[in-house]
Amino acid sequence: MKFYIEFEPCKECKAIISEMSENTDEIQTDEGSKKFLRHITYNHSEIVQAIIKDFPKEAKKEDFPWFK
Ligand SMILES: [Zn+2]
Repeated sequence: MKFYIEFEPCKECKAIISEMSENTDEIQTDEGSKKFLRHITYNHSEIVQAIIKDFPKEAKKEDFPWFK
């Protein structure tokens, strides 16, 4: 998928990602995902548009390098 190749996580993205990766609790991880999506929606709208355009329905968050 091409959208994430051009995606440069900002400081806040990285903070949320590391917060999520440190969290093993599923509820917390889910909260982190929502927070991250909200952040992307407000701060990286070009990414959201690319995701909406290209996002395969069956894609999982594990498929995205920034979730590591
Ligand atoms: Zn960001």
